[in-house]
Amino acid sequence: MNILTPFEYFAPATLDEALELLATKENAKVLAGGTDLMVQLKEKMIHPVNVIDITHVPELNEFKCEEGQGAVLGACTTDAFCEFSEELKAKFPAFAYAAGEIGGPQVREMGTIGGNLANSGPSAETPASLICYRAQLVLASKNGERTIPVEDFITGNRKNCLEAGEIIKTIILPEPAANTFVKYGYVGMRSSMEIDIANMCIRLDVEDGEIKDAMCVMGSVAIKPLISEAVPAALIGTKVGDEEAIKAAAEAAQSEVHPITDVRASAAYRVDVIGALCRRLLRELAAEIN
Ligand SMILES: Cc1cc2nc3c(=O)[nH]c(=O)nc-3n(C[C@H](O)[C@H](O)[C@H](O)COP(=O)(O)OP(=O)(O)OC[C@H]3O[C@@H](n4cnc5c(N)ncnc54)[C@H](O)[C@@H]3O)c2cc1C
Repeated sequence: MNILTPFEYFAPATLDEALELLATKENAKVLAGGTDLMVQLKEKMIHPVNVIDITHVPELNEFKCEEGQGAVLGACTTDAFCEFSEELKAKFPAFAYAAGEIGGPQVREMGTIGGNLANSGPSAETPASLICYRAQLVLASKNGERTIPVEDFITGNRKNCLEAGEIIKTIILPEPAANTFVKYGYVGMRSSMEIDIANMCIRLDVEDGEIKDAMCVMGSVAIKPLISEAVPAALIGTKVGDEEAIKAAAEAAQSEVHPITDVRASAAYRVDVIGALCRRLLRELAAEIN
C-alpha cells in the first residue's frame, strides 16, 4: 500500500487567502481535483510540505457563457461540467468533446480544466482544442495578474510558465466567428481510461467553401502541443473537402512529427495515426460544412 508522506492541508475560502498561502508556505503544492496530484503523491514523485486545496475559492469556480461573449471558466471548472454544458457544446464543441474524453466518469467529476493544463502532460486531452479556439489563461499571484495564450503556457513535458506563487485563475475562450469550424480527435488503446497515443485538433475558417485560414495542433507526439506550420500551408486557398488537399495536409502533418516509442505505441505507428487523424478530421469537417 502507498502511504502518503505527511503534509499540512489548507482549504482557503478566498482567492486572496489562497495566493497568500502560496506566497508564504514553503514547498507548497496546489490541489484541485487531485486526479493527477494524488497519484504523484502516492508514487512519491513529489514531496510537498504544504498542500493548498483551491476548489473552495469562488472565483476559481465561476462560469460565464453569454451570447456573443465567448466563455470564461474558473480554473476549477470540472472536466465533467465542460462535457455536459449545453452552452459549451454549442459554442465550443471540440473542447467539450475533448473534456468528455478524459479518463472515465469518476475522473471527470473530480478533474478540472486548470489541473489538466497545469499538469502539462504531453498527451493531455484539452490543450489542442483550447489552442485552436485561441484560448487565453489568466494567471494570478500575490503580485497581480497576467494573461497569456494557452499555446505559450505549456513549455515542455510537465513544464509550464507558472512562476512560484502563481496559479491559473481563469480560462478565457473568445467568441468563435460564425465561419469557424473545429474538430478534435484522438486514438488510444481503448475508449476509456486510456492515455492518448496521439491526438489532434483542426480549425478551419471558411468563406464560400474555401479555406481562408487553418490551424492544426497535435498532442502526444512531442514534449508539448505541436502547432503545425505545414498543414495550414497545404489547406489555405483550397476548397473544403478537396481530397487532394486532404491527402497533402495529412502528409504535411506526418512530415512534422518525430514522436517517441513508448509502452503505448511505436514512433512509426504514431506517425501513421497522425496521418489518419488528419484525414478523418478534415473529412468530418467537410461533412459538417458542405
Ligand atoms: C485513471 C485516470 C485517467 C486519466 N485519463 C486522462 C486522459 O485520458 N486525458 C487527460 O488529459 N488526462 C487524464 N488523466 C489526468 C487528469 O485526470 C486530468 O489531467 C485532470 O483534468 C487534472 O485535473 P485535477 O483537477 O485533478 O488536477 P490535480 O491533480 O489537482 O493537479 C494537477 C497538477 O496541476 C496543478 N494545479 C491544479 N490546478 C491548478 C491551478 N488552477 N493553477 C496552478 N496549478 C494547478 C497541481 O498542483 C498539480 O501539479 C487521468 C487521470 C487518471 C487518474
